[in-house]
Amino acid sequence: MKQFQVAKASYQDGEHYVGLWRSVSRDLASYYGDDLYKSWFSKVDFLEASGDSSVILSAPSNFVRDWIKSNYFEMISKLFGHHDPKIRSVDIITKEVIPDSTSAEILPMVTSSFTSLDDSREDILSSLDPRFTFDNFVVGPPNELAYAASLAVAESNNAIAKSNPLFLYGGVGLGKTHLMHAIAWHANKKNPNRKVLYMSAEKFMYRFIKALRNKDIMSFKEEFRSVDILMIDDIQFICGKESTQEEFFHTFNAIIDNNKQMVISCDRSPTDLDNVEDRIKSRLGWGLVADVHSTTYELRVGILESKLEKMDIKVSKNVIDFLASKITSNVRELEGALNKVIAHSTLVGREITLESTQDILRDLLRSNERSITIEDIQKKVANRYNVLVSDMSSARRLRSVARPRQIAMYLSKILTSKSLADIGKKFGKKDHTTVIHAVKRVEELMVSDLEFKDEVNLLSRIIQS
Ligand code: ADP
Ligand code: MG
Repeated sequence: MKQFQVAKASYQDGEHYVGLWRSVSRDLASYYGDDLYKSWFSKVDFLEASGDSSVILSAPSNFVRDWIKSNYFEMISKLFGHHDPKIRSVDIITKEVIPDSTSAEILPMVTSSFTSLDDSREDILSSLDPRFTFDNFVVGPPNELAYAASLAVAESNNAIAKSNPLFLYGGVGLGKTHLMHAIAWHANKKNPNRKVLYMSAEKFMYRFIKALRNKDIMSFKEEFRSVDILMIDDIQFICGKESTQEEFFHTFNAIIDNNKQMVISCDRSPTDLDNVEDRIKSRLGWGLVADVHSTTYELRVGILESKLEKMDIKVSKNVIDFLASKITSNVRELEGALNKVIAHSTLVGREITLESTQDILRDLLRSNERSITIEDIQKKVANRYNVLVSDMSSARRLRSVARPRQIAMYLSKILTSKSLADIGKKFGKKDHTTVIHAVKRVEELMVSDLEFKDEVNLLSRIIQS
């Protein structure tokens, strides 16, 4: 593969620009939030500078390059100018991807070895968010049961039979992952010999499928026996995959029978899981099922005040009230909005007022109100795959047309509140079973093919942005 070369001769002080890009990146992260940052900017690097007024960045793919260009370039240029007024132009190009240490991040499941649970304590802890501790978790009536149960699990030296598994469930952005990381931090601090393993359900599934393929289920189970607390996040991604579900739950049983503590999170309660056998549902609900409810106004105020206090920033009561009453969807959005307001005020060096807050969040609040239509989805998906919008409602079975159509159906299911029958109608008067089939197919592919999954998630973000 052709190696990519940095044109060192073309600038005098590379360090300066690398540092500059680091500062700009930091601003981007606090302005747009971690999720967006990770999706778009974390793999962008400083490439070269020519003269001292122009900077070139490198993107990992053409797609990322184009997306950044059309959506974030104004901000990036502004930030460069802010940190170094000499910079007059910024460009971004695609560099060839060289397989190196960074590919571990892109394909974490392929490259990190599962057989090394023993030596990976450091890795496990380093994959945890240091901010997600019990200390940083604001407790209120909506989450106090989940909090207390999590703390008990972390405090105990053994599995707690009546809380095994501890099943945390609730909508997105309400603190499930935060609590799981907090369990890991706390348990590790209390008793460093206690082995804690935290993993997303997708990662677990991926390992599992690999073991199935290699006819290696025994050693797969064996590996988990050395773990004292096993946490699997977002288990809804596993359920409904009939072929593997059965085997998965055998493994799960073996772990619990072995007196290991399991903590599971899910976006719904065990009884609400579709396509899961009753006896498995009942097994999942055998321990403690703790619901993380939507936040109340009081809890949102508490969370905002706690975050501001930690950052040592003072903000007037009416700003807090505005945020807590307007951003009600979940804590992640609430934090995002607060970070945006703070980043903006830091950037322009002005105090945070109710007026500036309203101003900064205007687009965000408006886009919260704007709803996504099936037509939107069809258009964007067709555009992405270079097929005709009319093919979205055609009956053509050619894979290059049928697959994008299935993806569009899947996205319509998850991004709109339309019924399966309504979705079918918009895709050329198709039956609701066709929609179910499409949704299932896409979900299966998302489990078995990680690149495909990234692709679908990316599309989903594009449609929502
Ligand atoms: P989930 O896993 O339920 O989707 P997360 O655990 O990722 O949600 O939480 C989303 C964000 O909200 C995180 O940054 C987390 O720290 C924050 N958060 C959620 N609940 C609380 C809380 N009670 N106190 C403080 N921060 C919270
Ligand atoms: Mg989560």
